[in-house]
Amino acid sequence: MRATGAERHELQCEPQLEIIMYLIDTHCHLSHYEKADLKAVIERAGQADVKKLITVACNLEQIGECLPIADEYEFVWTTAGIHPTELTDNVERDLEKVYEYAKNEEKVVAIGEIGLDYYHDTSPHDLQAAFFIGQLNIARELNKPAIIHCRGGKNPGENEQAFIDMIKILENEKFSNGVMHCFSGNKVEAEKILDLGLMLSFTGIITYKNNEELREVVADTPLTQMMLETDCPYIAIDGKQDGPGQPAYVADIAKAVADIKGVPVEEVIRITTENAERFFGV
Ligand SMILES: [Zn+2]
Repeated sequence: MRATGAERHELQCEPQLEIIMYLIDTHCHLSHYEKADLKAVIERAGQADVKKLITVACNLEQIGECLPIADEYEFVWTTAGIHPTELTDNVERDLEKVYEYAKNEEKVVAIGEIGLDYYHDTSPHDLQAAFFIGQLNIARELNKPAIIHCRGGKNPGENEQAFIDMIKILENEKFSNGVMHCFSGNKVEAEKILDLGLMLSFTGIITYKNNEELREVVADTPLTQMMLETDCPYIAIDGKQDGPGQPAYVADIAKAVADIKGVPVEEVIRITTENAERFFGV
């Protein structure tokens, strides 16, 4: 008798399920916790089967703070990059430093977070673009992925502009080795990013009650182009918003994705973890 689709699927997946049953927080900010709290935060992650963590830097100082954490914990890796709200006028000098960190530090596995932020809008858009493009070029030169941040403006019309500018840059640069982190855009934007070959990464905001549209984006995003992250301590999950987020919440985010897609949570864990391991080389 021929196996049904579901049975075949099970036969193919079963052995792998046993291999990967742990999660990766692909975007957290461990340097933003009090030193006294960090050990417990990392321990709770382990208890929730979140076994690998990428702690993301937003400026040069934070790269210097993240590296010792990555050195201390074997299962923590970090990034080098300057966030669009952390720019100075000295593009060349700062890019050189990002390049040096990314080239010389073994535990730096990505360039990030980088991108455009028209919401806080702390720097002129051409300066934001210069830093963004410069750091995409560093990523390309060193063959590392980029963690991309894109946030629209406060007023109507400004929201779309950040996204439009970002897509234009990615297309001009022919850059696809990146992840749109903490994705919270609409279906059209998601499709555009996926078509360019980038990954989408989702945080606990997919669990918030009023985010039905974002859950539809999750439903439409293939698991093969999806990663999970907490962006903690800034974002928590539904029901726990009164406290800071933590990497352990990736387990709740995986569960939410499984519920939205109507697939077993083991499948979400296996595929998103494989994606993250391939993407970051961890
Ligand atoms: Zn972040």
